[in-house]
Amino acid sequence: MNVTCPHCHRANDRTTCADPNNPDAQPNPGDVNLCFNCGGPSIFTEDSPRLPTEEELEQLLANPRIVHAQISIREIHLKAGNG
Ligand SMILES: [Zn+2]
Repeated sequence: MNVTCPHCHRANDRTTCADPNNPDAQPNPGDVNLCFNCGGPSIFTEDSPRLPTEEELEQLLANPRIVHAQISIREIHLKAGNG
């Protein structure tokens, strides 16, 4: 699956489900996507992910799991020297 980030425009070449009970799940429209390059949140559609609305973004950034995942992505890049 090719997923282009609407924030940084990187064409990510794979997705991983964050649910440990269902790691092979495929994204459905409305699911949240976090870009592994920039950590930007987006919303899956039938096509490429779209930017979240302001209301959606507020809800996403109030979710500790989303923020924790963004911090983890940042830490991975820092440890790899990509920071
Ligand atoms: Zn991105």
